[in-house]
Amino acid sequence: MEGNLLSPHIRSASDIGGYPQWVISSSGSGRSSSSSSTSAAVCWKRVVIVGGGIAGSVVAKSLQFVADVVLIDQKEYFEISWATMRSMVDPAFADKAVVNHVDYLVNAKVVVASAVNITDTEVTTSDGRQFPYDYLVIATGHSVSSPQSRRERMDKFREANAKMKNSSSILIIGGGPSGVELASDIAASYPEKKVTLVHSGPRLLGFIGSKAGSKALEWLRSKNVDVLLEQTIDLDTFQANKGVYITSAGEAIAADVHYLCVRRPLGSAWLKESVVKDCLDKYGQLMVDEHLRVKGFNNIFAIGDIIDVPERKQGVLAQRHAMIVSKNLKALIKEANGGKEAKLGKYRPSMSIAMVSLGKKDAVAQLPFTTMTGLLPGLIKNRELFLRKTRKLLGLDHGYTFL
Ligand SMILES: Cc1cc2nc3c(=O)[nH]c(=O)nc-3n(C[C@H](O)[C@H](O)[C@H](O)COP(=O)(O)OP(=O)(O)OC[C@H]3O[C@@H](n4cnc5c(N)ncnc54)[C@H](O)[C@@H]3O)c2cc1C
Repeated sequence: MEGNLLSPHIRSASDIGGYPQWVISSSGSGRSSSSSSTSAAVCWKRVVIVGGGIAGSVVAKSLQFVADVVLIDQKEYFEISWATMRSMVDPAFADKAVVNHVDYLVNAKVVVASAVNITDTEVTTSDGRQFPYDYLVIATGHSVSSPQSRRERMDKFREANAKMKNSSSILIIGGGPSGVELASDIAASYPEKKVTLVHSGPRLLGFIGSKAGSKALEWLRSKNVDVLLEQTIDLDTFQANKGVYITSAGEAIAADVHYLCVRRPLGSAWLKESVVKDCLDKYGQLMVDEHLRVKGFNNIFAIGDIIDVPERKQGVLAQRHAMIVSKNLKALIKEANGGKEAKLGKYRPSMSIAMVSLGKKDAVAQLPFTTMTGLLPGLIKNRELFLRKTRKLLGLDHGYTFL
C-alpha cells in the first residue's frame, strides 16, 4: 500500500492575498517558500488534521505558520480531559479547561464536523464536504458525545454540578481513573453525601499496579465511599425498580443521580471503510511505524490514544507523539520546498508516570518501579491539574494569573 504522490499546492503571491485567514508577512513569517521574491510561486502543503484532542491540537498549533492547516473536529473546542471530572465538581475549572480551537489557531482553518472517510487524497466530513490533503494526521483518540459548542459544554458542567449539589446520594459506575477521581472529588467536596462506586473488576485502577488500586480503595473507604467490586449495574433495570439500582450480585443501591465512568471506545470506527482500513489492529488501533506514519503510507501520520504503540494511553504521551510528528512534517515540507532530504525523527514507547488524584490534596502515582500516595503526588497533580502547562503549550495565558 503506497500513499499518493504528494501533489504540490502551488499558489502565486496574489493567490495568497485571497485567503484572509492567513497571516502573511513579506519576510520572516516562518512559512516555507521556494523563493524570497514576492512575485514568485510558493508551494504550500495542505496538512489536514482529524481530531482536536491534545494530540491533534498541538500539531495544528505547531504547523499553522508553515502549511495550509485544516483541523477537523467534532467540537469547536479542545477540552483538557484530565480536568473534566474536577470541572463537574467545580465548574470554575471548566472555564480554563475548555478552549475554543480558534483561540490558539489564529492561522488555520477549523472545521466543526465529523470525518467519515478518507481516500488517498482527501477527507470527507459528515456534511458532505471534501478536504484535500498532501499530509494527513489522524488523531481521533476516543469517541465522545460532547456538545459541539463551548457554550453548551459549559452549560453541561453547570447542570451536572447543580444536580450533584441537589442530590444526597450519588452512584458512580466504573472504577478506572475517571470513576476514582470523580468519587474522590465528590467525597472531598461534599462529605455529607452518600457516594457508592460500583466496579466490575476485582480491583480499582486496573491500568496501573495493584498497589495503586489498593491505596485508592483505602483512601475512598476512609472517606466513607462505599466501593463494591466485581459487580455491575444494568442501567435498563433502573426504571423498573423505581429509582433503585440493583447490582449483578443483587444489592440494591438508592441514588438520586448516577455517573457512568466506563472506558470509551476508540475513535476509529469511521476508518473501517477507509483507505487505512487494513492498518487497524484487532483493538481498532492504527498500526504505525517508528516515525508515527500509518504503516504502508508515507504521507499519513497517526498520533495519540488511537495508535498501537505499546504504552499507556496518556495525554502526556500524546503530546510527545504530536511533537515528533510536527517535527517530521516540518522536515518533509522543507524538503518539498527544495531543502535537504528530510531525516525523520523516531518515536520510542515511553514508561510514563501515571497519577490519579484522590480529592483535592492527595493523589496516587505509579512510577516505573514504585507507587506513591499522599500529599506529595497530590501537590504535583492537584494544584491546577496541569491546566497552566497545557494551556501554555497552546500559546495561551501570556501574563495571566491563573485560578
Ligand atoms: C478522566 C481522565 C483523566 C485523565 N488523566 C490523565 C492525566 O492525568 N495525565 C495524562 O497524561 N493523561 C490523562 N488522561 C488520558 C488523556 O486524556 C488521553 O490520553 C488524551 O486525551 C488522548 O488525547 P488524543 O488527542 O489522542 O485523543 P482525545 O482526547 O480522545 O481527542 C480526540 C478528539 O478527536 C475528535 N474526534 C473523534 N472522532 C472524530 C471524527 N470522526 N471526526 C472528527 N473529530 C473526531 C474528538 O471530538 C476529540 O476532540 C485522562 C483521561 C481521562 C478520561
